[in-house]
Amino acid sequence: KKPLVEVSHLKRFFDVGRGQILKAVDDVSFEIYPGETFGLVGESGCGKSTLGRTLIRLYDATSGTASFKGSSIHGHKSKSEMKQLRRDIQMIFQDPYASLNQRMTVTDIIAEGIDAHGLAKNRKERLQMVHELLDTVGLNRSHAERFPHEFSGGQRQRIGIARALAVNPSFIIADEPISALDVSIQAQVVNLMKKLQRERGLTYLFIAHDLSMVKHISDRIGVMYLGGMVELCESDELFDNPLHPYTKTLLSAIPLPDPKLERSRERMVLQGDLPSPIDPPSGCRFRTRCPFAMEVCASETPKWQEAAKGHFVACHLYDNGLDGKAKPVAQGV
Ligand code: SF4
Ligand code: MG
Repeated sequence: KKPLVEVSHLKRFFDVGRGQILKAVDDVSFEIYPGETFGLVGESGCGKSTLGRTLIRLYDATSGTASFKGSSIHGHKSKSEMKQLRRDIQMIFQDPYASLNQRMTVTDIIAEGIDAHGLAKNRKERLQMVHELLDTVGLNRSHAERFPHEFSGGQRQRIGIARALAVNPSFIIADEPISALDVSIQAQVVNLMKKLQRERGLTYLFIAHDLSMVKHISDRIGVMYLGGMVELCESDELFDNPLHPYTKTLLSAIPLPDPKLERSRERMVLQGDLPSPIDPPSGCRFRTRCPFAMEVCASETPKWQEAAKGHFVACHLYDNGLDGKAKPVAQGV
């Protein structure tokens, strides 16, 4: 299967003044396949939103490449190619309240893309399309002439989803789409997204700060830490057989329903604070918080390697493969 999105050694740095550079995304490589949900997880400030925004070309790439359907996202594009890209890739945001124009009616919000791309022949067809989109996301047609403030958070996220769908995209970047919602509403939005994916063959990049939020929706998951990707594999594999110490600490933070499992599992607590991405630790960026840190971790950046089929990790513990000499010996856990 050919990837829909291919990211290779992508970097996105920001000049934050006084000669300081923020390495928000630093040498990240991965692929997203058609029809899959790729979960992207990490603490706030790890670069996951920047990565999402770089893929939709809200940001340029500092170096490296990203391609969509085989064509470079950041390379030179004609006006019509840009327009097609803007249609094909849509974004859903964390805060549906902030991302919706408060002065516009639901109809005008949803129809923005329809208008920009000239998808409706006349006003009647435009309204018809909006009504069908409201049906699709489970909102009432009578909501069409109301304003965003008249809706709950979950309903506003549905409006945001309808707006994204209006131009028939194939790839949707959802940046923490459920993080701001009540727990009871989160499942509804996730179920809606899954249903739309089945019906329309959508591909998702689903960004979250919490592994439990992406577990059920993701086919594969990438874990980011301080601008770098540290682990990537299938969702079940990540939960059953995490390799990177950072992933293990994230998993330890999720309570298990079964007390027996809870007692038997390896517990790792994340120590210390997140270092600044402006002056990150040398070598492995996780070393200041890693219970397994070795000498080599300070001097050499761990390589991004496929430790098992489809299971990628950047950690010196696996330099000699999965059964290598460097066995994890925890200090202080
Ligand atoms: Fe820990 Fe070293 Fe692996 Fe980094 S490379 S996660 S410091 S063991
Ligand atoms: Mg973010």
